Amino acid sequence: MIYNYPHPEYFSDWEKPDFPGYKGNLVLWGAGKVGGVAAHCLKKQGIEFMAFCDIARDKWGTTFCDHKIISPEELKRNHQDAVIIITSSFHNSIEEELRKYGFTKVFDCTSLFMMIDFSSYNFWMEIDYAVRVIEQYLAAVLEQKANNQVIDQIFLNITTKCSLRCKHCSTIIPYISSPCHYNSQKILGDVTRILDALGHIRVVDFYGGEPLLHPDLPYMIKSLSEEKRIDRIYAITNGTIIPNDDLIEAMKAEKRFSMRISHYGALSTKVDTIKNILDKNCIKYEVTNYTYWDEGPKFGYLDSTEEELVSKFKHCTACNVLMIQNGKISLCSPGSVMNNMNVVSDTPSDYVDLSDNESAEELRDRILNFRARSKTGEYFKFCKYCFGNHCSQFENKVPVAEQTKELLLIDKFY
Ligand code: SF4
Ligand code: SF4
Repeated sequence: MIYNYPHPEYFSDWEKPDFPGYKGNLVLWGAGKVGGVAAHCLKKQGIEFMAFCDIARDKWGTTFCDHKIISPEELKRNHQDAVIIITSSFHNSIEEELRKYGFTKVFDCTSLFMMIDFSSYNFWMEIDYAVRVIEQYLAAVLEQKANNQVIDQIFLNITTKCSLRCKHCSTIIPYISSPCHYNSQKILGDVTRILDALGHIRVVDFYGGEPLLHPDLPYMIKSLSEEKRIDRIYAITNGTIIPNDDLIEAMKAEKRFSMRISHYGALSTKVDTIKNILDKNCIKYEVTNYTYWDEGPKFGYLDSTEEELVSKFKHCTACNVLMIQNGKISLCSPGSVMNNMNVVSDTPSDYVDLSDNESAEELRDRILNFRARSKTGEYFKFCKYCFGNHCSQFENKVPVAEQTKELLLIDKFY
C-alpha cells in the first residue's frame, strides 16, 4: 500500500533535508510511534541511521526497530556531530533543547511522510493507526513551525460513564464518583460556537468514558451531517459495546466518519462483532492495537521550581488540540477533567468557558490566546499538583488497560 499525504502543498516550501547525504550519522530523537514509522521510511529509502535517542530511562540500552536507544547524555557526550531528526510531535520544545546542547543539524521528519510505501512494513501499529498518527504529527509540526494558529482537532468528552475502569485512564474515569452523560444539545452548540470562531477543524473526536454508552451519539453524528467545516469525525470506543441500529445508520450515512476501536485484548470482548458490523455496512474503522500503555496521570503535592513548571507545561501542551468537557475548553486531558472535579479552587483563566456571551471574533481571540499559552509557558494552577502529561513527561510503561474495581481517590488541592 502506498500512502500519499493529502495536502503536500502545506509543506511545498519547507526545507527537504538531504537525509541520504547524512547516512550513518543520523540519530532519531523519539523512540515511539512516529519514530517507528520514520525508521520504516528510512529503511525503504536505504538510508542507514545510527541510533534512537529518547528521554525515557526505561528505554536506554534497549533496541527499537533494530536500533539501539541512547540517552540524551550519551548523545551529547559521544555524538556531538550527529544529525538529529526529531520524531516527536513536540517538535519546537525538543528543537530548542537540542540547540541549547549545541546541535546545529536538527530536522523534522515531515519530508519522509509525504509518500509512504507500506510494503514490507512490520512496525507494531496497524497501517490505519500509523497513518492517523502521522497525520496528527504533520498537523502538529505544521502548527508549531509555521505558527499558523490552526486548531487541528477537538476532543469532545461526551460522557464520564464507561464500561471499563482502567487504572491509567487518561481521563481518570476510576476517580469519578458520579459519572454522567453530558447534554447533547449543549455539546453540539459548543461545536458550532468553536467552528464559527475558528472556521474549520480537521478532526472532531467523540470520546469519554465510553461514547457508545451515550444514548444521543447517533443524534450527534447525524446533526453534524450539514456541517461542512469538519474533515473527519471519529468515535473512540473500547470494543465492549455493540453499536445499536440507530448508531449503525448514523455512521453509515456520514462518509467522514470512522470508528477508532481501542483493542484492549481480552477486555475488548466485542471487537470481532463490531468489525463484522462495520465491514457489512461499509463503515470505516481503525483497530488501535496497543502493546503497552504509558502510565496514567499522577497527582500530588510537588515542589517544582518555576522553571520546571514552565518546561513541564510546554511539553504537555505542544499539540494543536482542544479538549472540550462540560462546556469548557482545556489544553490537556488531566486539566480538562480537573476543571470539572472541584479538586482545585475554580480558576476561570485555566479554561475557556464556552457559555460566556461573546462574538465569534472575540471567542476566536480568546481561544488562540489560550492556545498560545503552550508557547509562553503560562501554566495552569493545577500543574503544580500534576506530574505531567504521561506520554511526553515520563514514559513509564504499564500493562494495557489494567483494571481496578475501587473508586480511586484524589486529594483536594486548595
Ligand atoms: S476504557 Fe479505560 S481508558 Fe477508556 S475511558 Fe474507559 S476507563 Fe478510560
Ligand atoms: S502538568 Fe498536568 S495539568 Fe499541567 S498541562 Fe501538564 S498534564 Fe495538563
